[in-house]
Amino acid sequence: MTTPAYKRVLLKLSGEALMGDDAYGINRATIERMVADVSEVAKMGVELAIVIGGGNIFRGVAPGAQGMDRATADYMGMLATVMNSLALADAMRQGGMTARVMSAIGIEQVVEPYVRPKALQYLEEGKIVVFAAGTGNPFFTTDTAAALRGAEIGAEIVLKATKVDGVYSADPNKDASATRYSTISFDEAIAKHLQVMDATAFALCRDQRLPIKVFSITKPGALKRLILGEDEGTLVHV
Ligand code: UDP
Repeated sequence: MTTPAYKRVLLKLSGEALMGDDAYGINRATIERMVADVSEVAKMGVELAIVIGGGNIFRGVAPGAQGMDRATADYMGMLATVMNSLALADAMRQGGMTARVMSAIGIEQVVEPYVRPKALQYLEEGKIVVFAAGTGNPFFTTDTAAALRGAEIGAEIVLKATKVDGVYSADPNKDASATRYSTISFDEAIAKHLQVMDATAFALCRDQRLPIKVFSITKPGALKRLILGEDEGTLVHV
């Protein structure tokens, strides 16, 4: 099969995915490898929007934020996602792609604001859109931003990149008998208490009938394979 299974997707990358083996920040080789994976998919004509987290730099709920006002700490977390978005877009441009960063919080000297029709226009033009600053609101996560923007742009699926290659019956790092689900319904995932995305994001996808694919971003070629509709990761469906 060489025809993409999707026309428009929302890819959610966690901030930690940019760290590689480092303890903090952005690892150059890791971001370049990730961008190469994205480039392969973009070349297939798939319209790609990306939401990136900020956990490699700052999280509102991290120990380092203890004692801080939660909303203030969350705004710092959102600013961390702006930094990651800039790094990602820069790496994509160096990799020959056209990328635009749009921010959910006003920071116009640095990146343009999120305007839905503009984002749709960029996607139709084949540009990769990186949604920065999460939802723009404290007390949320970038998983929720991915679900929200995914629904807004009419993405067919949210691709949630993690370190594990799907949803397992138990923690595969602790239980050798754990098996990966190839597909699972939202209802089954709830009944089995399986953690797919944070609860708000999960509920939004379920309500909007927006499927989620959980896959490993560290597994070479995984993104391309799942775009081609192959059995990669776990599909969470309605
Ligand atoms: N954040 C927020 N609102 C949002 C998205 C993110 O307040 O809509 C803040 C929050 O503090 C969060 C941090 O930004 O901890 C980084 O995002 P996230 O934890 O989702 O990043 P990831 O775990 O994917 O790296």
